[in-house]
Amino acid sequence: MKKMLCLVLAAAIAQLAVAQALTENIVLVTLDGLRWQEVFKGVDTAILNEPRYTRGKKGLAEMFDAESPASRQKLMPFLWSVVAKDGVLLGNRALGSKVNNANPHWFSYPGYNELLTGFPDPAVNSNDKRYNKHVTVLEALNQHPAFAGRVAAFATWDVFPYIINAPRSGVLVNAGMDSFPALTPTLAVLNDMQAIAPQPIGVRPDLLTFFAAREYLQARQPRVLYIAFDETDDYAHAGLYNEYLRAAHAEDQMLANLWNLLQSLPQYKGKTTLIVTTDHGRGDAVKDQWRDHGAKVPDASEVWMAAIGPGIKPLGEASNTGQQQQGQIAATIARLLGITYQPAHSVLPPLQVVLTQ
Ligand SMILES: [Zn+2]
Repeated sequence: MKKMLCLVLAAAIAQLAVAQALTENIVLVTLDGLRWQEVFKGVDTAILNEPRYTRGKKGLAEMFDAESPASRQKLMPFLWSVVAKDGVLLGNRALGSKVNNANPHWFSYPGYNELLTGFPDPAVNSNDKRYNKHVTVLEALNQHPAFAGRVAAFATWDVFPYIINAPRSGVLVNAGMDSFPALTPTLAVLNDMQAIAPQPIGVRPDLLTFFAAREYLQARQPRVLYIAFDETDDYAHAGLYNEYLRAAHAEDQMLANLWNLLQSLPQYKGKTTLIVTTDHGRGDAVKDQWRDHGAKVPDASEVWMAAIGPGIKPLGEASNTGQQQQGQIAATIARLLGITYQPAHSVLPPLQVVLTQ
């Protein structure tokens, strides 16, 4: 009987241990369609050297040290100086670290659905503006008393209110050309800028999405903030490799700016975990398919992820971590915050390989 009681107690303690939060806040950032090839290898000279795709090649080659192994560091200095030191980067396939879409479509809505719900549902097969019937981890968190009203998403792409199902979930989703909540004078200025700013690639500039999210973070202190950038994908589709690289570099600088800000605010300092990833991969330069993605493009399911902060093992550039799936990030977020995420659909398991517990 005593032994039985011990077993029951041990099980209860184990459950408590599982539910223990590893961090207090999460910031999730996605860089749409940014290839693992640029993240881990820097500038792809096969594309850079193609005049159809690259304007201003010489300056770009110098700026990002295209011919040297240091290229990735020049292209994405935050990932390679800060995250590689204190966090983890998964997805360098040359080192036996693979991350893939588990969904069979390899484009945006199915990818973001997989990322945010942990459920790579094959029936989610369109980018159309249809409200997601699945419950994202953001929605589940927003229903939790500790997070209610403290989950927000700022996105450049105007389909996010549908992916996150803003009306049902109650998550604040600001996307496309939505006005920013005029909470501060800075947000009012950002609204004026948004109304006037040119849209060279047909969407509001990622820079505005970022600064609005940053201002909102300071004004309202959400516990979970999602920022979804878009320009990398748009410039790749347009075949503008120079702009694709510059967008990736700018987004890395925004990550650095955000991380520094988080470390300066008592609500976030040392209590916030940053996760960075993408929705899908793209084709390769050899087959001249780097602009494209989708199920017909070989290797477009190959993605990557980076993470830093409490609860994350400082593995640096991971090697021999085997095969992981993009959809594992939803349960990873829930695990980090110590929340049970049990929607009606199945959920891929957390990325135990990056977690401290
Ligand atoms: Zn795309």
